Amino acid sequence: MDIINEISRNLQDVQQKIVAAAEGSGRKGDDVTLIAVGKAHEAARSHAALRAGQRAFGENRVQEAAGKWPPLRAEFNDVEVHLIGPLQTNKVRQAMTLFDVIQTVDRPKLAAALAQEAEKLGRCPACFIQVNTGAEPQKAGIMPQDADKFIADCIDIVGLPVEGLMCIPPADEEPSLHFAMLREIAKRHGLTKLSMGMSADYEIAVAFGATHVRVGTAIFGQRPPLR
Ligand SMILES: *Cc1c(COP(=O)(O)O)cnc(C)c1O
Repeated sequence: MDIINEISRNLQDVQQKIVAAAEGSGRKGDDVTLIAVGKAHEAARSHAALRAGQRAFGENRVQEAAGKWPPLRAEFNDVEVHLIGPLQTNKVRQAMTLFDVIQTVDRPKLAAALAQEAEKLGRCPACFIQVNTGAEPQKAGIMPQDADKFIADCIDIVGLPVEGLMCIPPADEEPSLHFAMLREIAKRHGLTKLSMGMSADYEIAVAFGATHVRVGTAIFGQRPPLR
């Protein structure tokens, strides 16, 4: 099967499951944005998804996005690219020109660097704060016990346009506990957007209130090994 047919069929399949999961929990399918995660795949796969009508994408590396997205944006309108991987402060400037949404704000130093650069640019991408709901030492994200203060500081003191929260549950745990935790934290701060759920668990995430699901493998297939 050619790549456009394959990816467009996968997109339809995932979209249908999102609608079913949303309706099953009393929500509308439209309330959930499908973010297609094309990381580590060739640009041709994202190109095929764009031709199939997909417009929201996720990338986890600044460098990879810098090579892939400027040409694709030149060809397609209304594209929205989300940074879903860790951001180093020395790449903040570059990230701010490449991404519409930065989902991985997770520490005061990064928040300050984003605010400083936003000041210079006169604009700022929408921000999500990543919470390390499983408190895993090797994983990015603000620790759950520090999340309330950090979120409040980002909004009230640093002045970032914080729209929601993002999490990546531990691989070996029931994801729903983490999705519920993220939803509770967001509620305390009046944040309405929740980025949670990947290929293996996006339907569960939608049932727990996800407004953004980040799906790679189920759309683009197995990733080639990282170079
Ligand atoms: C790779 C990645 C995804 C997509 O993972 P799949 O299991 O392939 O759907 C989602 N979110 C983040 C943060 C990722 O790094």
